[in-house]
Amino acid sequence: MKMVEINLHKEHLFLQTEDIDEESITCFILTGRVNIINSNCVIIKSPEQIVIIDPGGLQSQAEYIEEIIGHYNYNNSPVYVLLTHCHIDHSYNLFRLFQQKKIKFKTIMNQVCADIFAVVINRNVLLEDFLDFKIPSYIPDIILPDISEISGSGLNVEIDICCSNNQLIYKKTSVLKEIEISSYQLIVGDIVIECLSTPGHSPDSTCFRVENVLITGDILFAANMGIAGTIGWSLKDLKHSVWALFNYLLQEEFIDAIVSGHGPIINKTQALSIIEKKISYLKILKILN
Ligand SMILES: [Zn+2]
Repeated sequence: MKMVEINLHKEHLFLQTEDIDEESITCFILTGRVNIINSNCVIIKSPEQIVIIDPGGLQSQAEYIEEIIGHYNYNNSPVYVLLTHCHIDHSYNLFRLFQQKKIKFKTIMNQVCADIFAVVINRNVLLEDFLDFKIPSYIPDIILPDISEISGSGLNVEIDICCSNNQLIYKKTSVLKEIEISSYQLIVGDIVIECLSTPGHSPDSTCFRVENVLITGDILFAANMGIAGTIGWSLKDLKHSVWALFNYLLQEEFIDAIVSGHGPIINKTQALSIIEKKISYLKILKILN
């Protein structure tokens, strides 16, 4: 198992370029004070490619993302952007980043997320009013097919998705049996991203694993409906997703850094403890059996 070199950067901390190994995969993890209009952001840099997960909502974070990419996008190739979910504190900077012309961004979303941004699903899911932001209707560059619609139930079904240079491959990898939640592999150049479908906090919620780093979005806050908003939050899906994440973390021994949507980076023991508390909380509410 290759380990990702993790670089922790607080907001406004300038990058030390000499520390970066250009041959390895590096995760720049941008964390700041917990803020309802901004999420943590992960920038994954490999020798070939840059992928952003959750650009966040604060202007200062968008500027910092541009700065990092400006340093490392050697070959001027498109920078791919993924979202753990649509909430505006995770996604609004997409639209700020689009406004600059030097870097070309391409967005990858699952079908549910794409439908929310395209206004097929109630836009209140985005929490726009709560945060007093407005974003335009938007169609992503690449929409991942619904894994349940892929024919054949075997593992490793590779599907090339609409990218002329074959940099992107969507691969159905496994269905976690006890909890019936799907995972799939997304290969972006030389970066392999495992995607775990974990709806509940919002209908499109996804966790991503890159090597030893698991990016969970807001699933660790999902037991609190007040934080997640009332629209798009699902008790039924939450039940599956919380158990899925718990079982997944127990099984996957190599994960040693968990990046939540907000707050500090935690280790696996801390994450399991938080999820156990969520499970207890849901049991008290009679949400889980
Ligand atoms: Zn959220």
